Amino acid sequence: MKAAVFYGAGDLRVEERPMPKAGPGQMVVKIDYCGICGTDVEAYQHEIVKPVIVLGHENVGTVYQVGEGVTRFKVGDKVLCGPPSYCKENCTYCREGRPNICAYGFPRTNGIGGPDGGYAEYMLVGDVEHTMIIPVPDGVDEKDAVLFDVICVSLHALRRSNFKFGDNVVISGGGPIGLAAIQIAKAAGARRIVALETDDAKFPRLKEYGADYCINVRTCQDVGGEIRKALGNEDGADVTLECSGRQESLITCIFQAAKNGSQVILVGIVGEPLSQLSLAPVIPREIDLISSFVYTPEEIELYLDMLASGKIRFPGMVTDIIGLDDVVEKGVARQDRRGQLKILLDPSM
Ligand SMILES: [Zn+2]
Ligand SMILES: [Zn+2]
Repeated sequence: MKAAVFYGAGDLRVEERPMPKAGPGQMVVKIDYCGICGTDVEAYQHEIVKPVIVLGHENVGTVYQVGEGVTRFKVGDKVLCGPPSYCKENCTYCREGRPNICAYGFPRTNGIGGPDGGYAEYMLVGDVEHTMIIPVPDGVDEKDAVLFDVICVSLHALRRSNFKFGDNVVISGGGPIGLAAIQIAKAAGARRIVALETDDAKFPRLKEYGADYCINVRTCQDVGGEIRKALGNEDGADVTLECSGRQESLITCIFQAAKNGSQVILVGIVGEPLSQLSLAPVIPREIDLISSFVYTPEEIELYLDMLASGKIRFPGMVTDIIGLDDVVEKGVARQDRRGQLKILLDPSM
């Protein structure tokens, strides 16, 4: 079978690999689509994932072979198979019902931490019991289902917050995660949603997803004032979600968007050191900075359920579908990303 194997920064090769075989407690999934995640792009550029590995952690596929002892799934089932794995009961966090921060989960997550992932025609699930595998309900398009990694990050973030019906929300960053957050905040009953972006070209889609106002933080002279005008108050947002992963955005969220006593949820991963951020002014304002990481299996089921019933929808989120042979040029090393949201890999192409 064909697979895209990551050998280190700038080195992803499409190779012929032996067909995986399901041993006891294992199964083989035929990959129908695999999402190309920002993490994969980061891995390709900066080797944040340990080589040698077949990348791909946002997988939807069809169960192809089940090993001895696997009873929950059968050949032909459509499943989502994604991060993070979890130990289920051997760590404090799993016992507390927070498998997303399992102490042992990441190193055994397909395509990112340990075993090979879904940039391939077939993928071995090495430990069915401890891998997040969610059946895709009838009537849900696999191309929507596979967006779980994006949508559920935002869904989990809003559920981590104290958000309640009628709250004002500011969302910074208009990529897939920010868009998903807007749609979810809208479905959850936000009063007004203000989107912060650096690119006017994204405004129509942000509005389509539910933003009431869009502010270009690069060209706006008074972002804080504009946010208050948009929210119709003097104070700022009840909940602010940082979804861009940029330092300036985090500073804007804390100092321009959030009202005193409110929460700023860190959804995007701000990688650079926070050289310009002094927290001294934050203390008297009692701003809660809350980090949010991935999601739980129940939240994936919640996503699929609300998608199936039409309560949330993400039109136009998939902007390209490519084959394995194009995984470098049109995928992880794609030069022009403008206008691109989610790129899916279809290994059968
Ligand atoms: Zn991902
Ligand atoms: Zn655990």
